[in-house]
Amino acid sequence: MTAASPLHELLKTHFGYDSFRPLQEDIMHSALGGRDTLAILPTGAGKSLCYQLPALAREGLTLVVSPLIALMKDQVDQLSASGIPATFLNSTLEPDEARRRLDAIRAGKLKLVYLAPERLMGGRFLETVRSWQVTALAVDEAHCISEWGHDFRPEYRRLRELRAALPGVPVIALTATATPRVREDIVRQLGLRDPAVFLASFNRPNLHYLVEPKKDAVKRIARFILERGQDSGIVYCQSRKRTEEMAAALRHAGIAALPYHAGLDAAARARHQEAFLRDETRVICATVAFGMGIDKPDVRFVIHADLPKNLEGYYQETGRAGRDGLPADCLLLFSRGDVMKHVGFIQEIPDDEARQHAHAQLEQMADFAESDACRRIDLLGYFGETWTEENCGACDACLSPRETWDATVEAQKLLSC
Ligand code: ADP
Ligand code: MG
Repeated sequence: MTAASPLHELLKTHFGYDSFRPLQEDIMHSALGGRDTLAILPTGAGKSLCYQLPALAREGLTLVVSPLIALMKDQVDQLSASGIPATFLNSTLEPDEARRRLDAIRAGKLKLVYLAPERLMGGRFLETVRSWQVTALAVDEAHCISEWGHDFRPEYRRLRELRAALPGVPVIALTATATPRVREDIVRQLGLRDPAVFLASFNRPNLHYLVEPKKDAVKRIARFILERGQDSGIVYCQSRKRTEEMAAALRHAGIAALPYHAGLDAAARARHQEAFLRDETRVICATVAFGMGIDKPDVRFVIHADLPKNLEGYYQETGRAGRDGLPADCLLLFSRGDVMKHVGFIQEIPDDEARQHAHAQLEQMADFAESDACRRIDLLGYFGETWTEENCGACDACLSPRETWDATVEAQKLLSC
């Protein structure tokens, strides 16, 4: 019998797993070889491990930039529980605590340090970072650096300065969302040098896609949920107000539901998220503010009560269902009124190029909803992937070919304006 590789041993001892998921090992070898690496893997594929485990395998410190403070704490807690010396720095820390952590980093006691992008502001911090023994830089949710992605964060642009402050330190960028355009943007914005690119299939075979005309939305949604026993799921709504109304209406129908949006105070957001993660509420009615990095494996359905503004958002949001690999349903309610609402918002965008881009994306979204072709083929095609089988067997178009809607012509009229 051959001895297990050092990476396998670390996988077993620190994370308790017996084997790597697809691409994980290749990505780690690339990163450990000192090459800039871009990993594009769908949600739930196990991207964190791709920088956490190499951090243990190499000397020195790995810096991790990650956009969400709440996630940072979770990840660090998990790592600490597995005996991996890790910490995070962000604006929530008391000065004394921050100083203690900086001392520990300087003393070389840590393998992984998570940074909030707002920490990157200021030359003094970069000066400090330069004095550490940094041997790798990981940028999680790397699409946040691109204006063409669905979750642009201006702070991410400061990463260029961090990168410049650490010449020769290899970068690994990770994301679950990258159209070819966003991919190029990540490479350019981060200044990746001849990166090794790993691109996994975006197909989520356990997700069942379903699109219906929007009529009596609340009733339809309540029925859909009630048909699913005690399963839990997310209802995405277009506005904050609508998440509140939807949650109230579902509660009225006897379904435990809570709203989630950026207008709630931090305590309420945390409470509602926790309640959902712990199955104390079945349903969360949310704006797109909810979801990034939320690791609830058994979300059994994702409903779009309103039309998302692009297919990338739709893919990401539906992708939060079925992370455990078991079947899950994605229902989109479509109306031409929603297209019109988006057109209204888009017309307000002052920049010509951005407006045209948003318009083209909306057009793709509407085409998807109105098409009677296989949803999976359309969705994967958007990410530049070809699906070779004729019938995916798990979308409304493949399971029950339907009549063309009369909404098509009018929606096209709206979009041609
Ligand atoms: P991503 O960031 O790609 O969405 P995560 O890094 O959050 O995914 O990982 C998703 C889940 O998969 C986590 O619960 C993680 O512990 C688990 N996981 C990652 N790698 C493996 C592996 N090789 N074997 C088993 N579980 C894994
Ligand atoms: Mg992740």
